[in-house]
Amino acid sequence: MAPTYLKRKAVQEDGQGVKTNEGVASIVKGVIDDIRINGDASVRTYSERFDKWAPESFSLSDEDIKGILKQVPEQIINDIKEVQKNVRTFAEAQKDSLKDFELEIQPGVFLGQKNNPIENVGAYIPGGRYPLLASAHMTILTAKVAGVKHVIGCTPPIQGQLPTSTIAAMHLAGADEIFILGGVQAVAAMAVGTETIRKVDFIAGPGNAFVAEGKRQLFGEVGIDLFAGPTEVLIVADEHADPYTVATDLLSQAEHGPDTPAILITNSREVAEKSIELVDKLLVNLPTAGLAGVSWRDYGEAIVVDDLDEAFALADEYAAEHVQILTQNPRQALQKMKNFGAIFLGEGTCVSYGDKCIGTNHVLPTRKAARYTGGLWVGKFLRTVTYQEVRNNEASAKLGRLCGRAARAETFEGHARSGDLRAHKFLNDQHDW
Ligand code: NAD
Repeated sequence: MAPTYLKRKAVQEDGQGVKTNEGVASIVKGVIDDIRINGDASVRTYSERFDKWAPESFSLSDEDIKGILKQVPEQIINDIKEVQKNVRTFAEAQKDSLKDFELEIQPGVFLGQKNNPIENVGAYIPGGRYPLLASAHMTILTAKVAGVKHVIGCTPPIQGQLPTSTIAAMHLAGADEIFILGGVQAVAAMAVGTETIRKVDFIAGPGNAFVAEGKRQLFGEVGIDLFAGPTEVLIVADEHADPYTVATDLLSQAEHGPDTPAILITNSREVAEKSIELVDKLLVNLPTAGLAGVSWRDYGEAIVVDDLDEAFALADEYAAEHVQILTQNPRQALQKMKNFGAIFLGEGTCVSYGDKCIGTNHVLPTRKAARYTGGLWVGKFLRTVTYQEVRNNEASAKLGRLCGRAARAETFEGHARSGDLRAHKFLNDQHDW
């Protein structure tokens, strides 16, 4: 049977599950063009316009940071350290999985692979609505574990104030420079460079539609990690799932912003109906209901399917950022599903653990980008390069003959002659050029 939608999303889509908003692209283009020409002066103009923030300097000195650290409660500092320990441990294990190697493919012919860290990285730590200090661990700390030499961190002010806990997290993660600057003006400044902001090679980090669009437009001129825009959650639940947990976990992501898809797919009509009812009840007492309620109204979906196989197949079509599995045998999903940024198996864990503390990276693909990429990880900060050396003259000459034939098959005479030369030098082959 076709899936039954007990609740449908209310927004107009752009084909990728997101509200059509052509305005964002043109605003972003204007900001980038302006900063490219006018540097810091334009950065200041836009920061003032979008964030009402135009201090003498956007960067924090060591003295500033020392003072800020003293203002952050000790418990928050200790928690940041504990979470960063989890993130570091997992990132180091990821780095260990990326061994450099060298292969002697035939006697005297060596092919190798090395992972070289990117030199200069800009990390964007979102903070328009909430101080997303966890994004500091995910971006800056992961870059540092990868071996990146210089990491700039940018984060916006929150309602005209310094986001002190975020700054502490950025500092403890190892940021080399910290700027209090948000939105596309931060991303553009790091990508093109200004009088006071160093041009970086690569930008990592999540953000709202303006930040994500800025990264998209600047890609090529600067590397980017992935398309990590407004967050998404998709829950697959069976008849054993607790609707209270389903409803709570749907809302835990819906509060991020007004444009958060929160989707339930279940083989149980009863679980779907109870979960919908509970979402409405829980919204009444949720302090962030202003955002979560709008997201649920505009992007929330509850879909009933015949069985779990159908649920997993439909969930794979969504290719959601976060997938949570609330079924009796959650590990089954690892076999059945392929398209997701991160998957959370069973009731014992949840997307919030991934977002805030457990140690896997929370910068994850959105808008179906999970079809072609995973999330941020150590590997994104490394350039996997290759090298080769031929220390055996006979092998070089034989490769020269092969190269000559292969190149001429493509009518590349110049390439062919590089091969002929070696065949002549090392095996006395004649050539007539
Ligand atoms: P943000 O830091 O991403 O954006 C805030 C900035 O947006 C402001 O500094 C401002 O300069 C700019 N801005 C706001 N309105 C604007 C306008 N009208 N024109 C131009 N610029 C404007 O913080 P946020 O807004 O709180 O959003 C954080 C986002 O990050 C959320 O959407 C959340 O879902 C997402 N997120 C995604 C992931 C992921 O991995 N995909 C992880 C964490 C957070």
